[in-house]
Amino acid sequence: MLQRRIRTLLVRRLSLMNHFWLTAPIVALLWAGCSAPPPPNIVILLADDLAYSDLALYADTGLVTPNLERMAREGILLTDFYAPAASCSPSRAGILTGVYPQRVGIPGVLMPQSTRGLPPETLTMAEMLRQQGYATACFGKWHLGHLEPHLPQHHGFDEYFGIPYSNDMTPDSTKNPNPYARRHPPLPLVEGVTTVATEPDQRLLTSRYTQRAIRFIEQHADQPFFLYLPYAAPHMPLFVSEAFEGASSRGRYSDVLLEIDWSVGQILDALERTGISQSTLVIFTSDNGPWLVKGEGSGVAKPLREGKGTTFEGGQRVPFVAWWPGTIPAQSVSHALATGLDLMPTVAALTGADVGVTPFDGHDIRALLRRQPGAALPYTAFFFVQGYQVQAVRAGSWKLHVPHRFRSIHGAYLATWTHPGAYTRDSISLALFNLDIDIGESVNVIDDHPATARRLVAMVDSAQATFDAYRPEPR
Ligand code: MG
Repeated sequence: MLQRRIRTLLVRRLSLMNHFWLTAPIVALLWAGCSAPPPPNIVILLADDLAYSDLALYADTGLVTPNLERMAREGILLTDFYAPAASCSPSRAGILTGVYPQRVGIPGVLMPQSTRGLPPETLTMAEMLRQQGYATACFGKWHLGHLEPHLPQHHGFDEYFGIPYSNDMTPDSTKNPNPYARRHPPLPLVEGVTTVATEPDQRLLTSRYTQRAIRFIEQHADQPFFLYLPYAAPHMPLFVSEAFEGASSRGRYSDVLLEIDWSVGQILDALERTGISQSTLVIFTSDNGPWLVKGEGSGVAKPLREGKGTTFEGGQRVPFVAWWPGTIPAQSVSHALATGLDLMPTVAALTGADVGVTPFDGHDIRALLRRQPGAALPYTAFFFVQGYQVQAVRAGSWKLHVPHRFRSIHGAYLATWTHPGAYTRDSISLALFNLDIDIGESVNVIDDHPATARRLVAMVDSAQATFDAYRPEPR
């Protein structure tokens, strides 16, 4: 991209100097020296509340998701990949900006009553890529501010179609039995910046997003594009199209997973049909772990501890598969720590984007995805932050929790059709876990490793001071 800019500048300068006769040979030489492949199309498929252990790629589920399995077979599977946060809005903010969501004012979930959103000056992946000449589209659940100044079209997306926040944020008690939900306005369906319907038929959301995505791919197959498809599923309430009703014979949640898997297959097929699979990086991941209190409507956390809304592994360790035939070696698996914060810096590096002085918290993981021998591990430490409180840190195979309270699934009242469910409250004291041998964060080994614990506590203390600085001033 820089080379493309240098070429443009030189052509302009030479033309201004009236040295037209020099322009052609110099440009030809520059082209010849720039045989690097063009920057790839970027496709991000983001499931909502999909659990690590929901997929046969990670756990013994017995459910076949052939398209995701194909993606992993032909690409790379990361086993130690974390969502930037344990809930929808902050996780999405981290994915699209490459920084901890607290830096951009999204420490928690936005509600239909929220007037806030991703600040206009924030550099998003879409804005960055649009500056690079990419066509950009978002089809799905946005959840970074539903008022017009915060909608996707004001954050770099040429096209947007979808629901602006979660599919349970509706006054319809059949979709959300929580009494507070009656205060919500009807769930909008937005095209661009215009609400085109309210309370859309949720059974059709996944297929409608998929159709729009395929059309976008077909329309832009001859130019670079960024397609961001944040599914509204498998977030509660669960809906599937008629074609997938009962398809799994294992209940609604598995039916929903099969429809998401179908959608992934449709996207991959469209890329192959249009002949651009080798020039497209496709990423599939989830925004956070399972919403356990929803009982049968939730994914499976075990063997991970707890789920969505907590800084345990169940809250933030999520599936991640990347597919880029010809560039990412097939059948790759990596156990390196990587996170959703890495997508923005990686895409910036892949496309040669000029991001100025943006201090990303994530890392460029191109070498990891390409399985380059000797690729350095991207992280010394990743912080698990709830609101503005740093609750845990992972460094290598160690994860340290500092004392904090959390909502627990143990002893919880699970949701029914008429009750939203209720977590219990629990707390954890200073605890150190070795995730290599204890992925379930069940055995506190702090007494055996005091020096490691001290080192990690110091990391948390230092990070906490940084996050404190992002707290808004009290009004
Ligand atoms: Mg979510």
